[in-house]
Amino acid sequence: MTATALSPDRIALRDRVRALAAGPVTARAAEVDRSEQYPWDNVELLKREKLLGMTIPTAYGGQGRTWLDAVLAIEELSAACAVTGRIAVETNMGAISAVMAYGSEEQKKLAAGMVLDGDKPAICITEPEAGSDAGGMTTRADRRGNRFVVNGRKHWITGGGVSRLHLIFAKVYDTRGEEEGIGGFLAIRDETKGLKISKREPTMGLRGIPEAVVDFEEMELGPDALVIPPRGLKKGFADLMNAYNSQRVGAATVALGIAQGAYRLALDWSETREQFGRPINEFQGLQWKLADMSIRLAAAQALVYKAAASGENGFPDMLMAAQAKVFTSESAIAVVNEALQFFGARGYSRELPLERMARDVRMFTIGGGTAEVLRNVVASSILGKKLPQTRDGWSEGR
Ligand SMILES: Cc1cc2nc3c(=O)[nH]c(=O)nc-3n(C[C@H](O)[C@H](O)[C@H](O)COP(=O)(O)OP(=O)(O)OC[C@H]3O[C@@H](n4cnc5c(N)ncnc54)[C@H](O)[C@@H]3O)c2cc1C
Repeated sequence: MTATALSPDRIALRDRVRALAAGPVTARAAEVDRSEQYPWDNVELLKREKLLGMTIPTAYGGQGRTWLDAVLAIEELSAACAVTGRIAVETNMGAISAVMAYGSEEQKKLAAGMVLDGDKPAICITEPEAGSDAGGMTTRADRRGNRFVVNGRKHWITGGGVSRLHLIFAKVYDTRGEEEGIGGFLAIRDETKGLKISKREPTMGLRGIPEAVVDFEEMELGPDALVIPPRGLKKGFADLMNAYNSQRVGAATVALGIAQGAYRLALDWSETREQFGRPINEFQGLQWKLADMSIRLAAAQALVYKAAASGENGFPDMLMAAQAKVFTSESAIAVVNEALQFFGARGYSRELPLERMARDVRMFTIGGGTAEVLRNVVASSILGKKLPQTRDGWSEGR
Protein backbone atom coordinates (compact mmCIF):
# COMPACT_ATOMS: atom_id res chain seq x y z
CA MET A 1 0.00 0.00 0.00
CA THR A 2 1.51 3.36 -1.00
CA ALA A 3 0.20 6.90 -0.73
CA THR A 4 -0.54 6.86 -4.46
CA ALA A 5 -2.75 3.75 -4.07
CA LEU A 6 -5.07 5.36 -1.52
CA SER A 7 -8.81 5.34 -2.28
CA PRO A 8 -10.60 8.68 -2.88
CA ASP A 9 -12.26 8.36 0.55
CA ARG A 10 -8.89 7.99 2.23
CA ILE A 11 -7.35 10.84 0.27
CA ALA A 12 -10.27 13.04 1.36
CA LEU A 13 -9.73 12.00 5.00
CA ARG A 14 -6.00 12.70 4.79
CA ASP A 15 -6.55 16.09 3.17
CA ARG A 16 -9.19 17.07 5.71
CA VAL A 17 -6.86 16.24 8.61
CA ARG A 18 -3.90 17.89 6.87
CA ALA A 19 -5.85 21.16 6.67
CA LEU A 20 -6.89 20.85 10.31
CA ALA A 21 -3.30 20.14 11.35
CA ALA A 22 -1.97 23.12 9.40
CA GLY A 23 -4.44 25.42 11.18
CA PRO A 24 -5.32 25.09 14.87
CA VAL A 25 -2.99 22.18 15.69
CA THR A 26 0.15 23.87 14.34
CA ALA A 27 -0.83 27.11 16.05
CA ARG A 28 -0.87 25.44 19.48
CA ALA A 29 2.09 23.04 19.14
CA ALA A 30 4.86 25.24 20.56
CA GLU A 31 2.70 26.32 23.50
CA VAL A 32 1.75 22.72 24.30
CA ASP A 33 5.48 21.92 24.49
CA ARG A 34 6.41 25.01 26.51
CA SER A 35 3.54 24.84 28.99
CA GLU A 36 3.75 21.04 29.40
CA GLN A 37 -0.03 21.12 29.66
CA TYR A 38 -2.22 18.42 28.18
CA PRO A 39 -3.99 20.00 25.16
CA TRP A 40 -7.63 19.51 26.14
CA ASP A 41 -8.67 21.97 23.42
CA ASN A 42 -7.09 19.70 20.81
CA VAL A 43 -8.93 16.76 22.35
CA GLU A 44 -12.18 18.67 21.82
CA LEU A 45 -11.11 19.36 18.25
CA LEU A 46 -10.40 15.66 17.59
CA LYS A 47 -13.74 14.81 19.16
CA ARG A 48 -15.62 17.31 16.97
CA GLU A 49 -13.82 16.06 13.87
CA LYS A 50 -14.58 12.42 14.74
CA LEU A 51 -10.91 11.50 14.98
CA LEU A 52 -11.28 9.90 18.41
CA GLY A 53 -12.49 6.31 18.36
CA MET A 54 -12.26 6.08 14.57
CA THR A 55 -11.50 2.36 14.89
CA ILE A 56 -14.28 1.70 17.43
CA PRO A 57 -17.12 -0.22 15.73
CA THR A 58 -20.21 1.81 14.86
CA ALA A 59 -22.29 -0.43 17.17
CA TYR A 60 -20.39 1.22 20.06
CA GLY A 61 -20.67 4.75 18.66
CA GLY A 62 -17.33 4.84 16.80
CA GLN A 63 -16.57 5.29 13.14
CA GLY A 64 -15.83 1.63 12.37
CA ARG A 65 -12.84 2.72 10.33
CA THR A 66 -9.66 0.74 9.64
CA TRP A 67 -6.17 1.02 11.14
CA LEU A 68 -5.02 2.55 7.87
CA ASP A 69 -7.63 5.30 8.13
CA ALA A 70 -6.43 6.06 11.65
CA VAL A 71 -2.81 6.03 10.45
CA LEU A 72 -3.56 8.63 7.77
CA ALA A 73 -5.06 10.95 10.36
CA ILE A 74 -2.28 10.35 12.92
CA GLU A 75 0.45 11.01 10.34
CA GLU A 76 -0.98 14.42 9.47
CA LEU A 77 -1.65 15.45 13.07
CA SER A 78 1.86 14.41 14.12
CA ALA A 79 3.47 16.50 11.39
CA ALA A 80 2.05 19.51 13.24
CA CYS A 81 2.05 18.37 16.88
CA ALA A 82 3.35 14.99 18.03
CA VAL A 83 1.45 15.19 21.31
CA THR A 84 -1.84 15.51 19.45
CA GLY A 85 -0.78 12.65 17.18
CA ARG A 86 -0.14 10.47 20.23
CA ILE A 87 -3.56 11.30 21.63
CA ALA A 88 -5.02 10.10 18.33
CA VAL A 89 -2.97 6.88 18.61
CA GLU A 90 -4.16 6.11 22.10
CA THR A 91 -7.80 6.84 21.38
CA ASN A 92 -7.75 4.52 18.36
CA MET A 93 -5.17 1.85 19.15
CA GLY A 94 -3.47 0.09 22.07
CA ALA A 95 -5.55 -0.12 25.24
CA ILE A 96 -8.86 0.76 23.58
CA SER A 97 -8.34 -1.79 20.83
CA ALA A 98 -7.46 -4.46 23.43
CA VAL A 99 -10.70 -3.77 25.27
CA MET A 100 -12.73 -3.76 22.05
CA ALA A 101 -11.18 -7.12 21.05
CA TYR A 102 -11.15 -8.96 24.35
CA GLY A 103 -13.60 -7.17 26.64
CA SER A 104 -17.13 -8.09 27.70
CA GLU A 105 -20.12 -6.14 26.35
CA GLU A 106 -20.12 -3.91 29.47
CA GLN A 107 -16.39 -3.29 29.27
CA LYS A 108 -16.59 -2.40 25.57
CA LYS A 109 -19.47 0.01 26.18
CA LEU A 110 -17.67 1.61 29.10
CA ALA A 111 -14.34 2.03 27.28
CA ALA A 112 -15.87 3.17 23.99
CA GLY A 113 -18.06 5.71 25.80
CA MET A 114 -15.13 7.16 27.73
CA VAL A 115 -12.88 7.40 24.66
CA LEU A 116 -15.57 8.98 22.51
CA ASP A 117 -16.09 11.47 25.30
CA GLY A 118 -12.41 12.47 25.14
CA ASP A 119 -10.58 10.13 27.52
CA LYS A 120 -7.21 8.81 26.36
CA PRO A 121 -6.82 5.47 28.15
CA ALA A 122 -3.55 4.67 29.89
CA ILE A 123 -1.87 1.30 29.44
CA CYS A 124 0.14 0.15 32.44
CA ILE A 125 2.79 -2.48 31.74
CA THR A 126 6.28 -1.10 32.47
CA GLU A 127 7.74 -1.26 35.96
CA PRO A 128 10.99 0.09 37.40
CA GLU A 129 12.52 -3.41 37.35
CA ALA A 130 10.60 -4.79 34.35
CA GLY A 131 10.95 -2.80 31.14
CA SER A 132 11.86 -4.81 28.04
CA ASP A 133 11.41 -7.90 30.16
CA ALA A 134 7.74 -7.12 30.76
CA GLY A 135 7.07 -10.74 31.71
CA GLY A 136 9.20 -10.09 34.80
CA MET A 137 6.59 -7.71 36.22
CA THR A 138 5.95 -7.96 39.94
CA THR A 139 2.66 -6.06 40.20
CA ARG A 140 0.29 -8.69 41.54
CA ALA A 141 -3.44 -9.26 41.56
CA ASP A 142 -4.42 -11.66 44.33
CA ARG A 143 -7.78 -13.36 44.10
CA ARG A 144 -9.94 -12.84 47.18
CA GLY A 145 -13.14 -14.76 46.51
CA ASN A 146 -14.32 -13.42 43.18
CA ARG A 147 -12.46 -10.11 43.65
CA PHE A 148 -8.85 -9.06 43.08
CA VAL A 149 -6.49 -7.02 45.24
CA VAL A 150 -3.77 -5.31 43.22
CA ASN A 151 -0.43 -4.09 44.57
CA GLY A 152 2.59 -2.77 42.71
CA ARG A 153 4.19 0.11 40.85
CA LYS A 154 4.19 1.02 37.15
CA HIS A 155 6.23 3.83 35.65
CA TRP A 156 6.43 5.79 32.38
CA ILE A 157 2.68 5.55 32.04
CA THR A 158 1.58 7.89 29.28
CA GLY A 159 -1.32 10.02 30.40
CA GLY A 160 -0.85 9.29 34.11
CA GLY A 161 -2.84 12.04 35.82
CA VAL A 162 -4.96 13.00 32.80
CA SER A 163 -6.21 9.59 31.68
CA ARG A 164 -9.20 8.18 33.55
CA LEU A 165 -9.44 4.69 32.12
CA HIS A 166 -6.45 2.47 32.95
CA LEU A 167 -5.68 -0.93 31.48
CA ILE A 168 -3.39 -2.51 34.06
CA PHE A 169 -1.33 -5.66 33.65
CA ALA A 170 -0.47 -7.73 36.69
CA LYS A 171 0.46 -11.27 37.63
CA VAL A 172 -2.63 -13.05 38.89
CA TYR A 173 -2.37 -15.36 41.91
CA ASP A 174 -5.07 -17.77 43.04
CA THR A 175 -6.28 -18.00 46.64
CA ARG A 176 -3.52 -20.52 47.44
CA GLY A 177 -0.89 -18.07 46.17
CA GLU A 178 -0.21 -20.01 42.93
CA GLU A 179 0.64 -17.88 39.89
CA GLU A 180 -1.90 -18.09 37.05
CA GLY A 181 -0.19 -15.81 34.52
CA ILE A 182 -0.53 -12.18 33.46
CA GLY A 183 -4.00 -10.65 33.34
CA GLY A 184 -5.27 -7.23 32.22
CA PHE A 185 -7.67 -5.19 34.37
CA LEU A 186 -9.68 -2.03 33.89
CA ALA A 187 -9.74 0.64 36.58
CA ILE A 188 -10.93 4.24 36.53
CA ARG A 189 -8.83 6.91 38.21
CA ASP A 190 -10.68 8.82 40.94
CA GLU A 191 -13.27 6.06 41.14
CA THR A 192 -10.92 3.29 42.27
CA LYS A 193 -9.46 3.42 45.74
CA GLY A 194 -5.77 2.57 45.81
CA LEU A 195 -4.89 3.86 42.31
CA LYS A 196 -2.42 6.66 42.89
CA ILE A 197 -0.50 8.91 40.47
CA SER A 198 2.78 9.42 42.29
CA LYS A 199 5.23 11.33 40.12
CA ARG A 200 5.49 13.02 36.75
CA GLU A 201 8.69 12.37 34.79
CA PRO A 202 10.55 15.44 33.50
CA THR A 203 10.71 14.31 29.87
CA MET A 204 13.01 15.40 27.06
CA GLY A 205 10.17 15.81 24.55
CA LEU A 206 6.48 15.08 23.98
CA ARG A 207 5.98 17.34 26.96
CA GLY A 208 2.27 17.94 26.55
CA ILE A 209 1.44 14.44 27.77
CA PRO A 210 2.45 13.45 31.29
CA GLU A 211 4.53 10.33 31.82
CA ALA A 212 3.86 9.20 35.35
CA VAL A 213 4.51 6.68 38.08
CA VAL A 214 1.29 4.88 38.97
CA ASP A 215 1.02 3.01 42.26
CA PHE A 216 -1.53 0.42 43.27
CA GLU A 217 -1.98 0.07 46.99
CA GLU A 218 -4.46 -2.61 48.05
CA MET A 219 -6.51 -1.63 44.99
CA GLU A 220 -9.63 -3.76 45.06
CA LEU A 221 -11.29 -4.70 41.78
CA GLY A 222 -14.45 -6.69 41.08
CA PRO A 223 -14.65 -9.63 38.66
CA ASP A 224 -16.01 -7.30 35.96
CA ALA A 225 -12.64 -5.47 35.89
CA LEU A 226 -10.80 -8.42 34.33
CA VAL A 227 -10.48 -7.81 30.55
CA ILE A 228 -7.68 -10.16 29.62
CA PRO A 229 -7.72 -13.29 31.79
CA PRO A 230 -4.39 -14.93 32.60
CA ARG A 231 -5.38 -18.29 31.05
CA GLY A 232 -2.09 -20.05 31.60
CA LEU A 233 1.33 -18.58 31.85
CA LYS A 234 1.55 -16.91 28.44
CA LYS A 235 -1.94 -16.39 27.07
CA GLY A 236 -2.85 -13.12 28.79
CA PHE A 237 0.44 -11.65 27.71
CA ALA A 238 0.06 -12.98 24.17
CA ASP A 239 -3.35 -11.29 23.86
CA LEU A 240 -1.82 -8.06 25.11
CA MET A 241 1.02 -8.24 22.62
CA ASN A 242 -1.42 -8.98 19.84
CA ALA A 243 -3.35 -5.78 20.61
CA TYR A 244 -0.07 -3.95 21.09
CA ASN A 245 0.83 -4.46 17.42
CA SER A 246 -1.72 -1.74 16.63
CA GLN A 247 -0.06 0.60 19.14
CA ARG A 248 3.33 -0.07 17.54
CA VAL A 249 2.00 0.87 14.12
CA GLY A 250 0.54 4.00 15.75
CA ALA A 251 3.86 4.90 17.36
CA ALA A 252 5.66 4.39 14.04
CA THR A 253 3.10 6.69 12.44
CA VAL A 254 3.74 9.50 14.92
CA ALA A 255 7.49 9.24 14.20
CA LEU A 256 6.75 9.27 10.47
CA GLY A 257 4.51 12.32 10.85
CA ILE A 258 7.08 14.28 12.85
CA ALA A 259 9.71 13.52 10.19
CA GLN A 260 7.31 14.50 7.38
CA GLY A 261 6.68 17.80 9.14
CA ALA A 262 10.40 18.51 9.57
CA TYR A 263 11.15 17.50 5.98
CA ARG A 264 8.49 19.83 4.57
CA LEU A 265 9.93 22.72 6.59
CA ALA A 266 13.47 21.97 5.35
CA LEU A 267 12.29 21.66 1.75
CA ASP A 268 10.58 25.09 1.85
CA TRP A 269 13.49 26.72 3.65
CA SER A 270 15.99 25.31 1.17
CA GLU A 271 14.27 27.32 -1.55
CA THR A 272 13.98 30.52 0.51
CA ARG A 273 17.37 30.67 2.15
CA GLU A 274 20.14 32.01 -0.05
CA GLN A 275 23.87 31.82 0.49
CA PHE A 276 26.62 32.54 -2.01
CA GLY A 277 23.94 34.27 -4.10
CA ARG A 278 21.76 31.20 -4.69
CA PRO A 279 19.11 29.14 -2.87
CA ILE A 280 20.82 26.58 -0.66
CA ASN A 281 18.98 23.75 -2.49
CA GLU A 282 21.23 24.43 -5.47
CA PHE A 283 24.17 22.95 -3.58
CA GLN A 284 24.57 19.30 -4.41
CA GLY A 285 25.50 18.50 -0.81
CA LEU A 286 22.02 19.58 0.29
CA GLN A 287 20.21 18.13 -2.74
CA TRP A 288 21.51 14.69 -1.81
CA LYS A 289 20.39 15.18 1.76
CA LEU A 290 16.88 16.03 0.49
CA ALA A 291 16.96 12.99 -1.77
CA ASP A 292 17.99 10.71 1.10
CA MET A 293 15.33 12.18 3.39
CA SER A 294 12.59 11.65 0.80
CA ILE A 295 13.76 8.05 0.17
CA ARG A 296 13.70 7.23 3.88
CA LEU A 297 10.25 8.78 4.27
CA ALA A 298 8.81 6.96 1.27
CA ALA A 299 10.17 3.62 2.52
CA ALA A 300 8.96 4.25 6.08
CA GLN A 301 5.52 5.27 4.88
CA ALA A 302 5.23 2.14 2.74
CA LEU A 303 6.14 -0.06 5.74
CA VAL A 304 3.69 1.72 8.04
CA TYR A 305 0.80 1.58 5.56
CA LYS A 306 1.52 -2.08 4.79
CA ALA A 307 1.58 -2.98 8.48
CA ALA A 308 -1.67 -1.07 9.07
CA ALA A 309 -3.37 -2.72 6.08
CA SER A 310 -2.30 -6.17 7.35
CA GLY A 311 -4.74 -5.73 10.25
CA GLU A 312 -7.87 -5.23 8.16
CA ASN A 313 -9.56 -8.20 9.86
CA GLY A 314 -7.90 -8.15 13.25
CA PHE A 315 -4.69 -6.68 14.61
CA PRO A 316 -1.72 -5.74 12.43
CA ASP A 317 0.78 -8.50 11.74
CA MET A 318 3.45 -8.73 14.44
CA LEU A 319 6.42 -8.95 12.04
CA MET A 320 5.22 -6.07 9.86
CA ALA A 321 4.44 -3.90 12.89
CA ALA A 322 7.91 -4.52 14.35
CA GLN A 323 9.66 -3.90 11.00
CA ALA A 324 7.69 -0.69 10.53
CA LYS A 325 8.43 0.61 14.03
CA VAL A 326 12.18 -0.13 13.93
CA PHE A 327 12.75 1.32 10.48
CA THR A 328 10.46 4.31 10.85
CA SER A 329 11.63 5.37 14.31
CA GLU A 330 15.31 5.24 13.31
CA SER A 331 14.70 6.91 9.93
CA ALA A 332 12.59 9.63 11.50
CA ILE A 333 15.33 10.54 13.98
CA ALA A 334 17.80 10.81 11.08
CA VAL A 335 15.43 12.85 8.90
CA VAL A 336 14.54 15.32 11.66
CA ASN A 337 18.21 15.74 12.51
CA GLU A 338 19.04 16.51 8.87
CA ALA A 339 16.08 18.88 8.57
CA LEU A 340 17.35 20.84 11.56
CA GLN A 341 20.75 21.10 9.88
CA PHE A 342 19.17 22.89 6.89
CA PHE A 343 18.31 25.81 9.15
CA GLY A 344 21.84 26.39 10.42
CA ALA A 345 21.78 28.35 13.71
CA ARG A 346 18.04 28.97 13.39
CA GLY A 347 17.43 25.23 13.65
CA TYR A 348 18.97 25.31 17.10
CA SER A 349 16.60 28.06 18.28
CA ARG A 350 13.52 27.38 20.34
CA GLU A 351 11.70 29.90 18.15
CA LEU A 352 11.48 27.30 15.37
CA PRO A 353 9.84 23.88 15.76
CA LEU A 354 12.87 21.85 14.64
CA GLU A 355 14.44 21.49 18.09
CA ARG A 356 11.06 20.40 19.51
CA MET A 357 10.69 17.87 16.72
CA ALA A 358 14.20 16.54 17.41
CA ARG A 359 13.34 16.08 21.10
CA ASP A 360 9.93 14.58 20.37
CA VAL A 361 11.06 12.10 17.73
CA ARG A 362 13.85 10.69 19.90
CA MET A 363 11.34 8.72 21.97
CA PHE A 364 10.20 6.36 19.26
CA THR A 365 13.11 3.92 19.35
CA ILE A 366 12.38 3.47 23.08
CA GLY A 367 8.70 3.51 24.09
CA GLY A 368 6.42 0.60 23.21
CA GLY A 369 9.28 -1.84 22.64
CA THR A 370 12.81 -0.64 21.98
CA ALA A 371 14.43 -0.92 18.55
CA GLU A 372 16.69 -3.64 19.95
CA VAL A 373 13.89 -5.73 21.40
CA LEU A 374 11.82 -5.31 18.24
CA ARG A 375 14.78 -6.58 16.24
CA ASN A 376 14.52 -9.69 18.43
CA VAL A 377 10.86 -9.93 17.41
CA VAL A 378 11.79 -9.63 13.73
CA ALA A 379 14.62 -12.15 14.05
CA SER A 380 12.52 -14.73 15.87
CA SER A 381 9.80 -14.35 13.28
CA ILE A 382 12.06 -14.80 10.26
CA LEU A 383 14.02 -17.62 11.92
CA GLY A 384 10.89 -19.33 13.21
CA LYS A 385 12.38 -19.71 16.69
CA LYS A 386 12.46 -17.68 19.85
CA LEU A 387 15.69 -17.65 21.80
CA PRO A 388 15.38 -17.32 25.57
CA GLN A 389 16.62 -13.93 26.71
CA THR A 390 17.17 -14.94 30.32
CA ARG A 391 20.18 -16.97 31.48
CA ASP A 392 18.03 -19.67 32.99
CA GLY A 393 15.21 -20.08 30.49
CA TRP A 394 12.11 -18.51 29.09
CA SER A 395 10.98 -14.94 29.64
CA GLU A 396 8.47 -13.23 27.37
CA GLY A 397 9.92 -9.92 26.13
CA ARG A 398 7.71 -7.30 24.57
C1 LIG B 1 7.78 8.56 26.48
C2 LIG B 1 7.56 7.15 26.90
C3 LIG B 1 6.26 6.70 27.05
C4 LIG B 1 6.01 5.40 27.52
N1 LIG B 1 4.70 5.01 27.73
C5 LIG B 1 4.46 3.83 28.32
C6 LIG B 1 3.11 3.47 28.69
O1 LIG B 1 2.15 4.23 28.45
N2 LIG B 1 2.90 2.30 29.32
C7 LIG B 1 3.92 1.45 29.62
O2 LIG B 1 3.65 0.41 30.19
N3 LIG B 1 5.21 1.77 29.30
C8 LIG B 1 5.51 2.92 28.67
N4 LIG B 1 6.81 3.29 28.36
C9 LIG B 1 7.90 2.40 28.76
C10 LIG B 1 8.58 1.71 27.59
O3 LIG B 1 7.75 0.78 26.98
C11 LIG B 1 9.89 1.11 28.14
O4 LIG B 1 10.71 2.20 28.43
C12 LIG B 1 10.58 0.18 27.15
O5 LIG B 1 9.83 -1.00 26.98
C13 LIG B 1 12.01 -0.17 27.59
O6 LIG B 1 12.06 -0.52 28.92
P1 LIG B 1 13.17 0.19 29.88
O7 LIG B 1 13.01 1.67 29.74
O8 LIG B 1 13.02 -0.37 31.24
O9 LIG B 1 14.55 -0.19 29.26
P2 LIG B 1 15.37 -1.55 29.54
O10 LIG B 1 14.50 -2.72 29.33
O11 LIG B 1 16.07 -1.41 30.86
O12 LIG B 1 16.45 -1.54 28.38
C14 LIG B 1 17.71 -0.85 28.46
C15 LIG B 1 18.46 -1.10 27.17
O13 LIG B 1 18.74 -2.51 27.01
C16 LIG B 1 18.21 -2.98 25.77
N5 LIG B 1 17.74 -4.36 25.95
C17 LIG B 1 16.98 -4.87 26.96
N6 LIG B 1 16.72 -6.16 26.77
C18 LIG B 1 17.31 -6.50 25.59
C19 LIG B 1 17.40 -7.70 24.83
N7 LIG B 1 16.81 -8.83 25.22
N8 LIG B 1 18.09 -7.67 23.65
C20 LIG B 1 18.69 -6.52 23.23
N9 LIG B 1 18.64 -5.36 23.92
C21 LIG B 1 17.97 -5.35 25.07
C22 LIG B 1 17.08 -2.03 25.44
O14 LIG B 1 16.78 -2.04 24.07
C23 LIG B 1 17.64 -0.69 25.92
O15 LIG B 1 18.48 -0.16 24.95
C24 LIG B 1 7.09 4.54 27.83
C25 LIG B 1 8.40 5.00 27.64
C26 LIG B 1 8.64 6.26 27.18
C27 LIG B 1 10.06 6.73 27.00
